[in-house]
Amino acid sequence: MDTFSASHFRDDDAARAYLERLRWPVGTVCPHCGVVGHSYKTPTPGRYRCAEKECRKDFTVTVNTPMERSHIALHKWLQAFALMTSSKKGISAHQLHRTLGITYRSAWFMSHRIRECMRTGGLAPLGGEGKIVEADETYFGKQEGERKRARKRRGPFTKKGHYKNNRPVVALVERGGNVRSFHVPIADQREVQKIIRENIARETTLHTDESRLYTYATDHVAARETVTHSAGEYVRDHVHTNTIEGYFSIFKRGMRGVYQHCKEKHLHRYLAEYDFRYNTRTALGYNDGDRAALAIKSADGKRLTYRGTNEARV
Ligand SMILES: [Zn+2]
Repeated sequence: MDTFSASHFRDDDAARAYLERLRWPVGTVCPHCGVVGHSYKTPTPGRYRCAEKECRKDFTVTVNTPMERSHIALHKWLQAFALMTSSKKGISAHQLHRTLGITYRSAWFMSHRIRECMRTGGLAPLGGEGKIVEADETYFGKQEGERKRARKRRGPFTKKGHYKNNRPVVALVERGGNVRSFHVPIADQREVQKIIRENIARETTLHTDESRLYTYATDHVAARETVTHSAGEYVRDHVHTNTIEGYFSIFKRGMRGVYQHCKEKHLHRYLAEYDFRYNTRTALGYNDGDRAALAIKSADGKRLTYRGTNEARV
């Protein structure tokens, strides 16, 4: 990757300075008391001391981020952020391990933490007046263990009503805008209604296929238009679900090609990764630098503590 010529990808001090510019645009922020721009430098590079009388605590730019107390050099973290946010289909922990010259285990944990940072999930609803949101569901990967047995009675079911031993994903995409996807325990009307109510503006027109899952979704939007896939109808005038289906196929191709195995408990993070890249695509005006910066800026509070002996800090 030629962009790795920038000094913050090669040098630790430069990496720290880059992070400080990015995360503290108007001055240091003390993570203990929240005061902005009121600190002293200490003799240790990158370490500051809060100048507030009641605080006086030390901090660095990485406090509360996955990079805090990491034994991986900061410039390698920045390379990893750049690689994961810019590669079209994702990048495996194996490849990170080889590219960055760190252990596979470190690469694995690092990539999950970066995925967590990519979970920027805006709170503003999708859609709005005169806008179209497409909704659809898909299934990816097998369900695991006990939950699988419990679900056998309750679903998920396919459109034809057969039980499906796969993990359901429901996603919404605003045409020309952002996508939001959700791994749900069961794709049923209640689950779908909740997602639609919480994520779509009421003035929106919803486009779906004929699935009964969306029957009551009409209560929460201005209108619903459907195409009847079972009758071979895929596009009628401007009504279709091609955008969301296209998104699902990018996700599935990437998952099969790059990640292969994904435990169910991690699926939501992979979805966040694909959502992030879609929502920062070039057509929306983002470049590689913006993408990495956005993920780094949302690193606050994404420390992810894994319990259990093998999942120590990276
Ligand atoms: Zn303070």
